[in-house]
Parts: sequence; structure tokens; C-alpha cells
Amino acid sequence: MAWSLLLKHGTVVDGSGAPGVAADVAVEGDRIAAVGPGLAGEAARTIDARGLVIAPGFIDIHSHSDLVYDKCPSAESKVRQGVTTEVVGMCSFSPAPVAPGRSAAMKEWVGGLSGGGPIEWETFPQYLDHLRKLGPSVNIAQFAGHGALRLATVGADNRPPTADEQKAMERLLAEALDAGAFGFSTGLVYAPSVYGTTEELIALARSMAGKKGLYFSHIRGEAATLEAAVAEAIRIGREGGVPVQISHVKAAGRENWGKMDRVLRTVDAARAGGLDVTGDVYPYPAGSTKMDNLLPAWMHDGGTGKLLERLADPAARRRAMADCLVDGERWRTGSGGMGWDEIMIATCSDPELAGLHLAELARRTGREPAEAMMDLVLREHAGVSMIVFSQSEDNVATALGYAHAMVGSDSLSLHAGPGPHPGKPHPRSYGTFPRVLGVYCREKRLFPLETAVHKMTGMAATKLGLSRRGFVRQGFAADLAVFDPATVSDGATFADPHRWPVGIPYVLVNGRLVVEGARFHALPAGQVLAPGA
Ligand SMILES: [Zn+2]
Repeated sequence: MAWSLLLKHGTVVDGSGAPGVAADVAVEGDRIAAVGPGLAGEAARTIDARGLVIAPGFIDIHSHSDLVYDKCPSAESKVRQGVTTEVVGMCSFSPAPVAPGRSAAMKEWVGGLSGGGPIEWETFPQYLDHLRKLGPSVNIAQFAGHGALRLATVGADNRPPTADEQKAMERLLAEALDAGAFGFSTGLVYAPSVYGTTEELIALARSMAGKKGLYFSHIRGEAATLEAAVAEAIRIGREGGVPVQISHVKAAGRENWGKMDRVLRTVDAARAGGLDVTGDVYPYPAGSTKMDNLLPAWMHDGGTGKLLERLADPAARRRAMADCLVDGERWRTGSGGMGWDEIMIATCSDPELAGLHLAELARRTGREPAEAMMDLVLREHAGVSMIVFSQSEDNVATALGYAHAMVGSDSLSLHAGPGPHPGKPHPRSYGTFPRVLGVYCREKRLFPLETAVHKMTGMAATKLGLSRRGFVRQGFAADLAVFDPATVSDGATFADPHRWPVGIPYVLVNGRLVVEGARFHALPAGQVLAPGA
């Protein structure tokens, strides 16, 4: 029987962390048919992979592409990096479940995250069907967001759930897990997830007993409260009886940079105590989120409409400034203290503003920086995203090099094809995985190539409980990233983010060539994954 594709003379780095070996890889349909040196057999197509590494397709363990798939199911800026699976529903955000009659609230809530189409589903199973119909080019592993669970039950209010609402959340989570969700995620600095109590989350975790659900946590603060927040995530895992992932491990705000080593030792101690706790990291000293997250949690109480009312109210503005302004010049939130020149406008409706720091916006408008920021968020109906330069380069390397850290972009996929490319989004949408390979592995020699690949593939597949992905092995799904270890690099920068990476000539998703040199084939090659698959 002829193979569909034969990759000859490559170096197979199999995803386990084991040293690379000279070998060929044969693909038949959507599976890896054989791996070994000198494979002799008929193939419909043969690719000479001399000088290239054949690795498992990369798993973006922390992605926010959710509603992007509606307009852009090709996930092009991810697949061009070698990504073949995206893990979404992160940081408490998932597009489902939606309570009957609350789709407008859902749309408003996730609106700034993407420009997705209408919300035509309610239940989690309906949403997964919707995803399948879109025909994505990438595999998708979906989590249920705690924020969505809360919106569908408690609503947007700042209060603990009643006993009935807690049970309703648990029922919705069970329905999601039965349909194929991998677990639930929190965003404990984002409304309404931020209103969740530790007890509520322990109960949600416990409710996953017997269903192998995972808990992925954007923790309750990555700055002043960093250590308590890590301890809370670990406690939820221990008392809830679930594995934990600490999302985008970081110490935000220079006053907190010294905490990174203690945080990692805390994780080590929890692991030594038997808890499966791991983390993920993106290879940049800056993060990105919606700008309204600079505002304190009480301003979000009741949803976006209430937030905008408060932004229009001078007394509420004064209270926000009293809460957050430090020494009149830095702004402190759950994400750390930041100077106005460390906060950059990424995207909003006015393309002229993209790339501007808030200090510059204040100069141009003649306003105090805090007022200029609140003016902007109000005018844009909270639809502003920002980039925040709040981390140290040393910590990025420390976290990335940590033995139990994987790679997650924390970003949405973008499309850099023909047409305008508005804004200055975080370059991690285009460059995360090649940057780890080019900058942190090849240039900084932070870890061997096999370790870098392991952090992007096998380690993530094992965490997710995928039994046939994440490794180059016979019988496994033919998700493959083929790259040149000497040249692979990210092209995207903060000043010029809409750039493809280089040195990744072939990417296969379930046996289909989606990236072929400079060409991109937007095939419906991806699958909505089920745990264990
Ligand atoms: Zn997050």
C-alpha cells in the first residue's frame, strides 16, 4: 500500500525530550504510518527533509482564538508557527454555555476579545457542533470558562452563588465535560470570574470527580498577591482533587519580580506532595489584555453597561484613581504597578492610536494619563486592547526554563493575508513558538532543542491526556511541524507585529499539508478534540 506522504532524511525530534535521530516519517491518511531510517516504500508524495527537524505539531496550551474561528477558521498565524492544536476557553472566557436570553450579555462580555459573528448556540454541545461546522485548519481542545458558567447562572453580579446557582454551574460544567471539554478555566482578575470564591471553585473542581477534568487557572493576581494566588490554585487542586495548570506564569510589576523563584519552589513543593501542577509561559516580557482590566473589579460589577455608566461618572473615576494611582504616576491593579509609558494601545477603532503609550496619549490630549485612559475605554465601549510591559526578561527565561513549564501563546490567531492589518496586536500571535526555538533555544541556549520541542508537544499532550498526539510515533495522528533549526525565527515585533515567522516550511494537520513553503492551504484539516483522543 502506498503512503500518502513520505518525509525523507530528516532529524526526528519526537516530543519526548529524547535526543533527535536521523529518520524518515511516512504518513498514511491522518496517521503516522512509520518512523525510521531508510524507509522504503511507495508514496504519493515525497518531501526531502534534509537539514530539517521533523517534530510533532506544536500544542498551544493556552490560546484565546475562540471567537476568531468564526471569521478565520484557518488559524493562520498559529499554524504558520507549527501549531496544530490550540487549547481554548482560557482565563474564564469561553463562548458557551449561554443562558437562554443572555446571548447579548455574552457577546458584550467576549466582544473585546475578538470580532466574532452572532452567537447562535446556548449549550456547550451546541457550541462544539458550531466549531466543527466551521471547519478549522487546527485541532481545538476546548475548556469551559468559569466566567461563562457564572454569567449563565449568577449573572454579572459581584456576589457568591446561591446553593442552587452553584448546583446549576456544576450541571453546566458536567454537560460541557460530557460533550468534550477538557476541564474548566478561571480568570480570577476578570469579571465575573473574579467574584468567584475559593470554596465555589473547590466545589466545581470536586464536581469533576470521575470525569478527569483539569483546572487551568489565570490566578487571582500576578503581582502583589502572586504568592497567595498560586497557593489558592494549588489548594483548589488539592482539595478539589484535580490537576492544575498555572496559566502564563509571570511576576508582574517590577516590585514583584523578586518573587518568581519562590513561586516555582512552591510549585515544586506541591508536586512533591503528589499534586499534578504545571504551568505555561509565553516568551515575551509583555502581556496583553483588554484595557478595561486596568479598572478595579468594583467598576465591572453588573457588566459592561454598568462599567460604562461608572466611567461617565466623575465620582466613580475619582474613586478608581484613589484605588489605583500610586504616587500620582503609576497605576496599580491585580496585574501589578505600571508606568504610563509601559502601557501601549494595541487595537481600538481608531487606527491612529495603535502603538501609542498612554503617557503619549495623555500628552496629545492634554489630560491626566488616568483620565485619558478612562476617556478612551469609555469612548470605545470597552473595546480597547493593550500591551503591558510589566515583566522582567530574566523571569521570562526562568519561567520558560522551569522543568514543568510548557509553551502557551496566550493569544488569538490572526490572518496576515491580503488587506489591511489593523492595530499593533501582541507579536506572540505570530511568533511565540519560533521565538522559543530561535531566541531561547538557539541564541540564548536556555535548553536543548529536544527540551524546547518537548515543552511545545509531548509535555502538553500528556497534561491534556491526549493518547495519540504530541509525539512522532507510529499510529499517532500525523500532526507534524517541520522546521530548520538553524534559521527558524519569529519575524513579528511590537512595532511591526503582522509578520510571519521563517524557517518552518511544512506543517501537517491530521496528515494534510496546511503550510507548504510560503503557501498556506486553509483546509478544514483540524478536529475538535475529545479528552483521551
Ligand atoms: Zn489569562
